Amino acid sequence: ETPTPKPPLTLYLAAPRGFCAGVDRAIKIVEMALEKWGAPVYVRHEIVHNKYVVDDLREKGAVFVEELEECPDDRPVIFSAHGVPKAVPAEAAKREMIYVDATCPLVSKVHIEAARHHENGLQMIMIGHAGHPETVGTMGQLPEGEVLLVETVADVAGVEVRDPDKLAFVTQTTLSIDDTVDIVTALRARFPNIVGPHKEDICYATTNRQEAVKAAAPHCEAMLVVGAPNSSNSKRLVEVARKAGCSYSQLVQRAADIDWRSLEGVRSVGITAGASAPEALIDEVIDSFRARYDTTVELVETAQEDVEFKVPRVLRIPA
Ligand code: SF4
Repeated sequence: ETPTPKPPLTLYLAAPRGFCAGVDRAIKIVEMALEKWGAPVYVRHEIVHNKYVVDDLREKGAVFVEELEECPDDRPVIFSAHGVPKAVPAEAAKREMIYVDATCPLVSKVHIEAARHHENGLQMIMIGHAGHPETVGTMGQLPEGEVLLVETVADVAGVEVRDPDKLAFVTQTTLSIDDTVDIVTALRARFPNIVGPHKEDICYATTNRQEAVKAAAPHCEAMLVVGAPNSSNSKRLVEVARKAGCSYSQLVQRAADIDWRSLEGVRSVGITAGASAPEALIDEVIDSFRARYDTTVELVETAQEDVEFKVPRVLRIPA
């Protein structure tokens, strides 16, 4: 008996996708800290927003906690790639803990910008998502209440400032480029003298992943974004694909999450991954397509990346 032939399907694989330099560095920091100091090493917040990465590090001896209070004084602690409010390292120093900051250098750059504007007497506005750890961390660089949060164009109209001529803004690094352009335009229209970064603080990795999805989307009837439900940049990729015409655009943590029934009859699927999703999960997704379809993989590459960040000095010197 001959098996029924598999139906044909083309996967459009977006590039760049997946791990960025900041995530790569943050994971390396935890691994090197475990090597240097042995287990357990504490990590405040998920080092990057991916369960698979976190589980793997937990198995190697990392202990994940949400607050510094949950860590003992005598074990090293690592702060996640998203950044932390100033009070956190200050508290760790007070308790004489060993701590390593895995904040992505591109987030630290935003922290420095915010502090500089504040020193120059400007009131800060942050464009970001309420409650996301990066937003909490960036706002926490300045005293409580000093940074006003704006999430949408509608928020701009309601924001109450001290002096409309003494304002500056920063942004979260993982926002939707197009939405942020609209918010910045609204801010500049209401506060013509507002000071801001040349464009916005959205990082190279976010920019490149959104561009690649925009290029792939017109070829695809569906788009799958490999990423975690709490990953800001992954959620933005789902939205970008939808806006670019892929009405069926879904976040999947791994192959088991794929809703095959929704893909029935579909012959072209785009695949990308958020900055915290390991390539092994993307391979798993591709393999599960190969098992069901006669699959052709086409690469849609819009940029090449060669960014790399060094780990902190303390991890580069022997114990
Ligand atoms: Fe850094 Fe951008 Fe990666 Fe965030 S998404 S860790 S800002 S490179």
